[in-house]
Amino acid sequence: MNTRDIVTAAEAVQSAILANEAHIESLDRAIGDGDHFINVRRGCEAIVALKGDLLGLPPAQAFERIGMKLLSTIGGASGPLIGSFFISMGRDLAGVEEPDAKQFAVALAAGVEAIKQRGKADVGEKTMLDVLIPTSRLLLRLAAEGSDRETVCSKLKQEAEANMLATRDMIATKGRAHFLGERALGHIDPGAKTSQVAVFAVCDMLTEGAAS
Ligand code: ADP
Ligand code: MG
Repeated sequence: MNTRDIVTAAEAVQSAILANEAHIESLDRAIGDGDHFINVRRGCEAIVALKGDLLGLPPAQAFERIGMKLLSTIGGASGPLIGSFFISMGRDLAGVEEPDAKQFAVALAAGVEAIKQRGKADVGEKTMLDVLIPTSRLLLRLAAEGSDRETVCSKLKQEAEANMLATRDMIATKGRAHFLGERALGHIDPGAKTSQVAVFAVCDMLTEGAAS
């Protein structure tokens, strides 16, 4: 993976988020305050606007740069969480010129760990972590086993989708939705949805696109 792949992935995520606007909006309107789509769209725009600067940097610095930008760009609960995700990924990759699948998997796990720490949340609390934690764990395992890219991507997509859907039957114990108690039942968590959309976009780009 190089920085061009990161930029291509960001563009793929941006298109996928835009394509899911209505759904993401309606989820945060149902159990949040309705701004999640706008927050994530703003974040994607900020990353893609950095493209010119990012392409001159190694992946570690590119991720840190993205994270810093997101901290100052995205509002809401998700801004600091997603910002710290990228900063931690970048720190984990320090000194690695072109991360391989295993190194990327470890960095992703470090990013997810940063979200856990900052959000003081874990699986089962009806947040983005319900998608990110199991998907990241699965990637660690598949990368360690040396699975091929097609298999990895198809399994990650299944994992992300199943766990996104599972948030529908959870009561939130973190984030705005926790004020709703049982009234949040029956609604998918918006952050879990955007996380699943992002996993799909990156996986599709890696299997259909020209990334190295
Ligand atoms: P806000 O909740 O401030 O309006 P957003 O709407 O952008 O911010 O993001 C809401 C999403 O953030 C939720 O759907 C959930 O997935 C995620 N989230 C909220 N609180 C936490 C937390 N403590 N840890 C992890 N994720 C969280
Ligand atoms: Mg919101």
